[in-house]
Amino acid sequence: MAWHTWSHQQRCGTHLSLGGLALTLLLCPATTAQPRQNWLTPQQQPAPQAPTTVPATQCPASGNPDPLLGPRTRMPGRWVGRGAVKPDLPIVVMAGHADSQAMASAGTPGFAVDKRRQAPMDPRMRDELYWNLQVQKAVVRLGRTRGLNISAYTPPALTIRNDEDPRTNWSQAKTRSARGDYILEIHFDAYRPYGFGSGLIPAINRPLNALDESLAQAFGRFPRLFRGGLGGPRRGIGILEIAMLEPPLENKLRNPSTRSRTLECIAERVVNALVQGVS
Ligand SMILES: [Zn+2]
Repeated sequence: MAWHTWSHQQRCGTHLSLGGLALTLLLCPATTAQPRQNWLTPQQQPAPQAPTTVPATQCPASGNPDPLLGPRTRMPGRWVGRGAVKPDLPIVVMAGHADSQAMASAGTPGFAVDKRRQAPMDPRMRDELYWNLQVQKAVVRLGRTRGLNISAYTPPALTIRNDEDPRTNWSQAKTRSARGDYILEIHFDAYRPYGFGSGLIPAINRPLNALDESLAQAFGRFPRLFRGGLGGPRRGIGILEIAMLEPPLENKLRNPSTRSRTLECIAERVVNALVQGVS
């Protein structure tokens, strides 16, 4: 969505979460006519506000393909999460591949590094982990302000070769999931044609619940037994593929002038889904 579309939305006023989307469409018909792919492209308009001063409620509304995240998974699942969850359900947010750097399962380098030969965001890790960590941090911070019982777990080392080491995401997830915590692991998918797109690969060690359903409605849903049932989901991890790590989203993340707003909008999408799921 172009800058002037953002300010246009501002003038049209109230639009909060999904209910607000309908309101925006009613009050601001011109908004929907804008090419949404370019929602962060500066135009010949008054100078945009700094990202930190713009309320996250100005994030683009979801869609498929999504103006912020791109396409949802091209291999969709058909499960429905029906189990009720308590409003104070402990939610643990992890960053995918946080303990598997310099290993085969290090995550995607992303389009910029792999195809454009750009420098990684942090030489110690694949770009996917860099962004997983950024989103993890933003989701926990925003989730707390929204009243969620949410926390982060991050392993103390970037490389832990033994899956059974108690400090890995997998070990922590197994223990915490067994006591009823909801484990959400943030990921970015590979770029096209290798990636599938946005969506939740749900846990397979427990019945699917309203939180799984809410995330699937916001991001899309992978088959329950995606690739025969991955190691994370077997240990209670819901893998949330935010998006494929490719342009235009990757450019918005890498560009320092659009980075914080983009991260805020991603975090808001996640947190809105979590809040809805526990309500
Ligand atoms: Zn990943």
